Amino acid sequence: MNLTGELLIGANARRGQGAEFHAVDAATEQALQAPTYYSAKSGDVDQACALAESAFDAYRTLPAERRARFLDDIAARIEALGDALIERAMSESGLPKARLEGERARTANQLRMFATLVRSGDALDARIEPALPERQPPRTDLRFQRIGVGPVAVFGASNFPLAFSVAGGDTAAALAAGCPVVVKAHPAHPGTSELVGRAIQDAVRHAELPEGVFSMLFDAGHEVGAALVAHPSIKAVGFTGSRAGGRALMAISNARAEPIPVYAEMSSVNPNLLMPAALTSRAETLARDFVASVTLGCGQFCTNPGLMLGIAGEGFERFAATAAQSIDGVQAGVMLTGGILRAYDAGIERFAANPAVTTLARGKAPEAGSRRAQAVLFRVSAKSLLADHTLADEVFGPCSVLVECADADELRTVLNRIEGQLTITLHLDDADQPAAQALLPILERKAGRILANGFPTGVEVCDAMVHGGPFPATSDGRSTSVGTAAIERYMRPVCYQNLPAALLPKALRDANPLGVHRRFAGRHERTPG
Ligand code: NAP
Repeated sequence: MNLTGELLIGANARRGQGAEFHAVDAATEQALQAPTYYSAKSGDVDQACALAESAFDAYRTLPAERRARFLDDIAARIEALGDALIERAMSESGLPKARLEGERARTANQLRMFATLVRSGDALDARIEPALPERQPPRTDLRFQRIGVGPVAVFGASNFPLAFSVAGGDTAAALAAGCPVVVKAHPAHPGTSELVGRAIQDAVRHAELPEGVFSMLFDAGHEVGAALVAHPSIKAVGFTGSRAGGRALMAISNARAEPIPVYAEMSSVNPNLLMPAALTSRAETLARDFVASVTLGCGQFCTNPGLMLGIAGEGFERFAATAAQSIDGVQAGVMLTGGILRAYDAGIERFAANPAVTTLARGKAPEAGSRRAQAVLFRVSAKSLLADHTLADEVFGPCSVLVECADADELRTVLNRIEGQLTITLHLDDADQPAAQALLPILERKAGRILANGFPTGVEVCDAMVHGGPFPATSDGRSTSVGTAAIERYMRPVCYQNLPAALLPKALRDANPLGVHRRFAGRHERTPG
């Protein structure tokens, strides 16, 4: 497929009239000449949003099987893009082939998982409370299901050019919910975005869906994204990126005549608790596994273990020494964008210059002028961290901070003070369980996912995953952006009170013609259908 750099608006592709930009080769920082990308203008935003709004009712009321087939077809078309997609994503992101092939598989699998969910009807969450005419006062018939919220604006993430970008988790969840999607492509991987965007556009055409079900806009700056979030036709936003970016979009939403939910996944340092018995029995193994995790993908995971907390002692010292030794040999890795590298370098300089911080070890230094980042390990005392909360701020990239707590009480105080997190991990042996049990209520308050004896960088896409957490991990800790529960962000409940049977949605009719799972009079119906 030839890249053209065009905006995809409904069924059409056309050149934007705004500022031009080029994709950049991540390894060389050289602009990839062809094609030139042109930013959208406000008229393009208006048109994409108007098409999305006009597509909404027809799309959300499609039979479930058609919507599911559409999602399956997008997955197949992305796979059919073959090596061209992987090669383009490699040059734009600097991520290695195996990682991107895995990400493509995850992208296709999550689309298919949402297709299965749509077929099941479970996301409708159908409930029926039959009329109670004998009751005083009598109760009328009440029936409940969820419907899509309306057109959703999705911001592609730089660090997952496939699985959290144009056809990534946010888009898959919104399309599964019955919501048209307008994507603001991330300018760090425009060619990858175009390939995937065109695959979705072809799937819309093939399924004979209203063209406004999908559009994708480019922008070299922030205007298009801001205009999208402000547009009255947009009813929800999915975003993964910086805290500043997420907050800016939340502010735009709050200033609208009709504020809308902005589901922003922003920053997390993913504390790991090195429990005493585990440190005593396996400090060295833990340290080596930790270094592998913190440097995986050059540290550019939202679940990167950025804060390692332990209680002072011989085990903690062994952990620190082995981690320092292991990071010493780590090669400098390519960062996703020049902006992310600059933010990383500024972050580690700020830490290194702080007199309360010890630089434990650094990885191999990058060549001057390259877009590579040096891995770094810092060490601070819990007292310093408690005195200066910026020491627990995220520095996105291959760095982590070891925090030495004087005792269990101080560890507890630190945990009580830290901000909301995507994950918190316990490294524990059997003897640590009583102490871990006492910490669990704090961990539950602070994080969306609690792990034991592993590292948080792998995020399984499944029914039971939570990739969310209290602010600033996300803007709304009641939801997840990964896994089938992500669909809930783009649905809202509607109650049908006393409607004639013929007017009821099929899922709520007495005979249950769709065979969906329902609650009936407070109990789960035993056999659907
Ligand atoms: P970003 O700067 O937050 O940008 C993400 C997307 O939002 C881009 O399309 C960006 O457009 C847009 N955007 C940002 N600020 C905006 C605003 N005020 N108004 C409208 N649109 C806005 O994230 P990034 O470029 O991917 O990476 C920068 C930093 O984000 C990293 O250093 C890291 O700290 C963080 N990050 C976090 C995660 C995570 O998983 N939590 C993932 C990736 C990045 P432009 O590109 O045109 O600015």
